Amino acid sequence: MRISLDTDVCIGAGQCALVAPDVFAQDDDGFGTVLPGREDGGSGTLVREAARACPVQAITLDA
Ligand code: SF4
Repeated sequence: MRISLDTDVCIGAGQCALVAPDVFAQDDDGFGTVLPGREDGGSGTLVREAARACPVQAITLDA
């Protein structure tokens, strides 16, 4: 699985980092980031949940 996070769409809601803190974080401005080395998705279930939780669908997952 590959994670893409569109920073142009992200509004910094932080849901991704709350749901899957092993994979997502928030940068200094509050926008979501994928942690280095976690672009492959880490634990898939939480990543899928995080993508669902994002209020603006900034996270896309490729199988
Ligand atoms: S949940 Fe979505 S809008 Fe919120 S920080 Fe993560 S990617 Fe950005």
